[in-house]
Amino acid sequence: MLGGGHGFLQGQYGLLADQLINARIILGNGTIVTASKTSHADLFWAIRGAGHNFGIVTEYTLRVYDAQSDDTWAFQQFIFAGKQLDQLYTAVNTMKKSQPAQVVEWGFITRMPVLDPVNPVIIYTILYDGPLSVAKKYSAPIRNLSALQTDSREVPYLALPGLTGNGGNDIACQKGATLLRFPIYLESVNVTALQQVYDAFDQMMVQQPAFNNSFFLVEGYSVQGVQKVPADSTAFPHRGVHMLLTPVMVYLPDAKLDVAAVKHGQHLRELLLQGSGSTELKAYVNYAHGDESLGSMYGFEPWRLDRLRKLKKLYDPEEKFSFYAPIH
Ligand SMILES: Cc1cc2nc3c(=O)[nH]c(=O)nc-3n(C[C@H](O)[C@H](O)[C@H](O)COP(=O)(O)OP(=O)(O)OC[C@H]3O[C@@H](n4cnc5c(N)ncnc54)[C@H](O)[C@@H]3O)c2cc1C
Repeated sequence: MLGGGHGFLQGQYGLLADQLINARIILGNGTIVTASKTSHADLFWAIRGAGHNFGIVTEYTLRVYDAQSDDTWAFQQFIFAGKQLDQLYTAVNTMKKSQPAQVVEWGFITRMPVLDPVNPVIIYTILYDGPLSVAKKYSAPIRNLSALQTDSREVPYLALPGLTGNGGNDIACQKGATLLRFPIYLESVNVTALQQVYDAFDQMMVQQPAFNNSFFLVEGYSVQGVQKVPADSTAFPHRGVHMLLTPVMVYLPDAKLDVAAVKHGQHLRELLLQGSGSTELKAYVNYAHGDESLGSMYGFEPWRLDRLRKLKKLYDPEEKFSFYAPIH
């Protein structure tokens, strides 16, 4: 929440940080303050996007919403062979232009030897807050492609973490594994660059089987709810971007592998940055590896960093909260 908070409901209601009404924070000097629109409003601005820099949040009040009365989410999952990447993401780029607020797209490139013993597959999921019959209209271009495997059903909201690989027993949540992320936000996918990523990812696993549990995450969020919140009203800087792509390097802790893991993660991300035609890497602070610039994580508009630096001096002058992605 303190770094933004992406989620399945953001198209409808905004980021998790956008639901924050007030927070009780212990500052570095031991003082306890309440941050809200009416109390320490400057700190309230900062903790919605850069919060881990300012203190320890011990209590907070969040805005919540009633679930739809029948709690029905349409879950559609398609697993494609790597050679279908071009077709799939060409269709996705077109669909993105009219992505409804109720839709989240969630993809992984990963190894799944049961379906393809040689190359990684692409798992592509569309979640829709509503009935399957309506969701199927949106997914028609994907359903027309011949997937290796499909699964379509209606499920309750609480089933979604498990179905998207975010359950407690899934790889992403494994205890004891090293998990390094290299995030990049993109407006759309450059299919040629993504193909290069796929090929490099594939090669990497052939050359270094220790990285076989790694995956490449392609998150496709709707942003209507996120954009309803004025861009300058919180420290979260990247409100307009639909896609969050992240190589996630997963391996059993082994210091000898660290340099290679970082090199691969950075290379995969660099391919996408080059493909985007931009030199500005926009990164989600909560996924950041630590090599990103402050502009990447907190925004490139000079006023944002100026403001964060002034607030850091005011609320954490001794830099006690500078463990992760520190403002300096
Ligand atoms: C499996 C998995 C799934 C994820 N899914 C999502 C997702 O769907 N959407 C999303 O937005 N992100 C997601 N993330 C990323 C997640 O937002 C970040 O990892 C986030 O930092 C987790 O917070 P934490 O408090 O658990 O982590 P920690 O590692 O404990 O903390 C991260 C940073 O926040 C600081 N911090 C922690 N608690 C407090 C506090 N009370 N007050 C002040 N600072 C604090 C810590 O000091 C540290 O600097 C996911 C991560 C994983 C591993």
